Amino acid sequence: MDVSESPIPVVVAEGDGIGPEITRATVRILDAAGARIDWKPVVLGQVAYERGVATGVPDDAWSLLRRHQVLLKGPITTPQGGGYKSVNVTLRKSLGLFANVRETKSYAPYVPTRHEGMNLVIVRENEEDLYAGIEHRQTREVTQSLKLITRPGTERIVRFAFAYARAYGRRKVTCMTKDNIMKATDGLFHKTFDAVAAEYPDIESEHLIIDIGAARLADTPERFDVIVTLNLYGDVLSDIASQIAGSVGLGGSANVGDGVAMFEAVHGSAPDIAGQDLANPSGMLLAAVQMLVHVGQAEIAQRVANAWLRTLEDGVHTGDLYRAGSSIERVGTQGFADAVIARLGEDPLHLPPVHYRKIDLHVELPEPPVERKDLRGIDVFLDWHGAARADGAGPAAGAGPAAGAGPADDARRDPEVLGPALAATAKAVGWHLKMVTNRGVKVWPEGFAETFCTDHWRCRFHPADGAVTDFDAVLRLLGAVHGAGYEVIKTEHLYDFDGLPGYSLGQGE
Ligand code: NAD
Repeated sequence: MDVSESPIPVVVAEGDGIGPEITRATVRILDAAGARIDWKPVVLGQVAYERGVATGVPDDAWSLLRRHQVLLKGPITTPQGGGYKSVNVTLRKSLGLFANVRETKSYAPYVPTRHEGMNLVIVRENEEDLYAGIEHRQTREVTQSLKLITRPGTERIVRFAFAYARAYGRRKVTCMTKDNIMKATDGLFHKTFDAVAAEYPDIESEHLIIDIGAARLADTPERFDVIVTLNLYGDVLSDIASQIAGSVGLGGSANVGDGVAMFEAVHGSAPDIAGQDLANPSGMLLAAVQMLVHVGQAEIAQRVANAWLRTLEDGVHTGDLYRAGSSIERVGTQGFADAVIARLGEDPLHLPPVHYRKIDLHVELPEPPVERKDLRGIDVFLDWHGAARADGAGPAAGAGPAAGAGPADDARRDPEVLGPALAATAKAVGWHLKMVTNRGVKVWPEGFAETFCTDHWRCRFHPADGAVTDFDAVLRLLGAVHGAGYEVIKTEHLYDFDGLPGYSLGQGE
């Protein structure tokens, strides 16, 4: 008997396109299975956009979500242009839905695939990484996007992945990063993974660099069980996984936070088949199965999932899965729901039946360590075009054109002009210019003439005496650099934490 006997309130949004059809089918199956859910309908997406709600999430939806904490959501058509925001991104970020969980299985031979033994879960960090959307154009030639990886965000997702693996009886967790290149950001993720893995000796753990990891996923997905990774890599990996399972239409996903959780199909609103009773409701149904486990109705979740597997085995298929010769009956969205309802209480005969139990995936973060933080220097980024002063002496002038005008550009942009002049400027105020890089490649001192240089220069300074410094000294340096005619476009402080550099070292440092 499940723990909760009274109906659990669940906010339900039908969404756009095929959303209303597949939501209706899903709700019918859950109700028939005896799910104790008190459905709270809200409108999200197109109708809200048309009413002028830029996020697609009206006020009444926010208050219902905050009160009831669980959302079953149909797919939403992403609006084009016009300052509208994606409902999914808005919900994920505003409600702190830090974990995206996508289970991907093959259902061979009922769904054709080259990977019969595939059965994996991708746990993707959902809020950080390049998805912060903090982007700038800093010079005429260079744009940047900030990749933010935080310690609490990383701790939370990695701990969640291990808790998930243990709760669902999975044996291995694989972490994928690119920490051979991004030692600070991806390195933090990898180190955190290693530390948390040590707390779970019952679960095998491994780390793969993302490129070989993605290649192995595409080639031998059977070797993976749970994968935990950063936002961008997870985004790409989860689509590869769905595609090679042969079942993009069968995927369900959960977006889980400390409070609120949102469940939805992996696919979109499929406007090409909307309103025709053609859509396969399985993706949304499997998301709803995860939702039932989440709200403590594991027994009902199991009943629904096994009836669904039996329906698949019996060859009752919607058009996207129907194959003449192997399928037995072609049905529409509601006909498929009827077939699942007719099989409630039955288990699959060939595919392994699923077993769920109540789980608790609440993650406690450890106390952060107390670390000493010392300012050891500064990276100053310049917009510099190599244009020499009219008299040909002294430091090369910064971009400094009149507003709107293009700078005079010396095609050579010679670092041997910039480096010594800038070093002299810094020396006069007690700073030492350690190096200049362009797109991360050292060009001074001892650069190569062949290195292509853009108008974006990273100049690394340390105090001349090598001591710990402070912000007043930084301001003196910046004042001198600005006074010498250079255009400073950004700075990054170089901190040591407990004596270890918190910044990447340049070549030869
Ligand atoms: P899509 O997933 O909606 O459709 C891709 C193809 O798969 C189409 O041919 C469609 O007919 C088919 N398909 C999708 N779901 C199906 C189902 N349940 N049964 C049978 N066939 C199905 O992707 P798209 O066409 O790129 O996107 C359509 C809209 O959905 C876009 O506005 C997109 O931004 C949005 N979208 C929303 C979400 C979401 O709300 N979570 C996710 C992805 C895309």
